[in-house]
Amino acid sequence: MRYITFSKNIFIPVTNVCRNACDYCVFKARSLEEAYVIEKREFLEGITNCGAVTEALFTAGEKPELAHLAHFFTDRLASLGCSTLIEYTKELCKLAIKQGLLPHCNLGVLNRAELKELRPVNASIGLMLETTSELEAHKNSPGKDPNLRLAMMEEAGRLKIPFTTGILVGIGEEKGDHIRALEAIKSVHGQYGHIQEVIIQPFLPKPFTPMGDKTPPSFEELKDVVRAAKDILPNEIAIQVPPNLTSPTELIELGASDLGGIAEKTIDYINPESPWPREDELRRRVAPFELRERLPIYPRYIKKGWYSEEIRPLIERYADEEGLRKRDGF
Ligand code: SF4
Repeated sequence: MRYITFSKNIFIPVTNVCRNACDYCVFKARSLEEAYVIEKREFLEGITNCGAVTEALFTAGEKPELAHLAHFFTDRLASLGCSTLIEYTKELCKLAIKQGLLPHCNLGVLNRAELKELRPVNASIGLMLETTSELEAHKNSPGKDPNLRLAMMEEAGRLKIPFTTGILVGIGEEKGDHIRALEAIKSVHGQYGHIQEVIIQPFLPKPFTPMGDKTPPSFEELKDVVRAAKDILPNEIAIQVPPNLTSPTELIELGASDLGGIAEKTIDYINPESPWPREDELRRRVAPFELRERLPIYPRYIKKGWYSEEIRPLIERYADEEGLRKRDGF
């Protein structure tokens, strides 16, 4: 391994209305007062002042049209001229592309038609598998059914969409679950070859949530999961560890090779208490390896041509001959 990668992104929470209710979540709107849908004006202001980033990371609550705040969501969307999350997010993706950003959507479980809608305007798409177990933490979250999530990953594979997934460590899963989850990811990748990275994300308890008093996983547990990922996953799948949630240095020695998206201009809306380290700090932490910037589509899929004509000009503008970001930025 010659380098450790990361991407520069801007984090765009399209809406916090969600049909699920995970016991560890602080992102979902619990009341009408908390609920929002980002407006195009607000979105454009954000992306025009975001510095030298290449990735627009779109996140949203899952299937807001089915949430208990669905009326709020559909009314807001209608006032913005759209009727579904996918239609609206697709418009935002097109605006992002016009502004020179490569979109990556993580909108929860999507069906084949929705994936097909989003594919032309996304460099890659993501969905955390999280676990293969039925967990207490997900008792009110129909979208966290691992079978649904694996089915979406398979559909993305059939559509040749470069895909990001991952597992959550410490949300009440049994010992052995990480192995099963990693084996399941390996199996889907074995069929379609589309998994570009697997995030190993530690659970961090949040105050005022049902899991607020739970103990987070120890660093030793995290190291065990990274070791298992290195053993189980093929080398071509990057193991990603988020540097705002854990210390990456030892995990890199065990096989992690990517630090994910770093958003210097926006917070991590899923873990708002954990600021991202600055690029120079990351560089210091990964030494002696070189830190290289990548795009939201990994080099392998650029070489395979797994992207649309809509985003081709941006890939040609940003990628070097290795498929990483050109060292001089543009
Ligand atoms: S699916 Fe995501 S946004 Fe929705 S409740 Fe669970 S963690 Fe929160």
